[in-house]
Amino acid sequence: TEKDKYAVFGNPIKHSKSPAIHAAFAEQCGQHMQYRAVRVELDGFQRAAERFFASGGRGLNVTLPFKQEAFAFADTLTDRARRASAVNTLSACEDGGIAGDNTDGIGLVRDMVANLGWQLQGRRIALLGAGGAARGVLEPLLREHPAVLMIANRTAARAHELADAFADLGDIVGGGYEVLAGHEFDLVINATSAGLYGELPALPEMGLAERSCCYDMVYGNEPTVFMRWAAQNTAWAVADGLGMLVEQAAESFYRWRQVRPATQPVINQMRQLLAAA
Ligand code: NDP
Repeated sequence: TEKDKYAVFGNPIKHSKSPAIHAAFAEQCGQHMQYRAVRVELDGFQRAAERFFASGGRGLNVTLPFKQEAFAFADTLTDRARRASAVNTLSACEDGGIAGDNTDGIGLVRDMVANLGWQLQGRRIALLGAGGAARGVLEPLLREHPAVLMIANRTAARAHELADAFADLGDIVGGGYEVLAGHEFDLVINATSAGLYGELPALPEMGLAERSCCYDMVYGNEPTVFMRWAAQNTAWAVADGLGMLVEQAAESFYRWRQVRPATQPVINQMRQLLAAA
């Protein structure tokens, strides 16, 4: 029989790790499926997605810069996708409709809580950045009931907007990086893309609590600038975003196949691939 069809749509897409991750899940779980990376023209998302599902495609992951378009494309949305205003997972439903979900936030939370053993409840959290990644993780993060969440961003207005949009879910403060000054945090999450340019956000003097944790959503084959900052400031534990990447994929896979893959072996495998690159 023909394999069930899945794909990731993005632009650029060449360096996507998603096909390798889903291939590993499929093999581990004995699923008869294929998963391809597709580079979609910048003005061609809707047409490409329509064609994919019309030709029997079962599910899509969506990455930069199409997450908002995928949000608009979906017929139904999960609460976390609606709050994120972005969709990274589309699924064909029995009734012919397309369901949209956002698994980035739950991926981050699972990596921190289940894989790394970090506690979030009652913790004082600083979230750096107010772009799509920050917005996408806010709902699942706030559902863990941190004591305080401060969102700091280079463009302060974007952090204020996010703080307002999620104010019903917890105690949130937003602003420029100076809002963090003089506060002490148990967890600092870097959701900026500064690391891609080898840069560090303009952090003020701030305290890291005893047993503090620092998480960078960016990952690579060596520690990022933010991870080095964390180590210098004697963070108790430091991690990059590779686990989040694998966990968001696992949640998409579960939605599509109703089977939950073991993620740790795949994180280890991806870590080895990164090191060899
Ligand atoms: P966006 O372009 O939506 O947002 C970028 C954010 O980074 C903004 O807050 C921007 O601030 C900030 N920023 C960019 N450059 C700098 C700089 N030099 N100094 C300070 N702040 C800066 O990107 P996303 O939110 O979609 O993605 C952010 C990062 O998260 C990316 O690097 C991405 O690779 C990573 N990511 C990782 C995932 C994973 O699974 N591990 C999942 C999703 C994302 P401003 O608003 O002022 O411009």
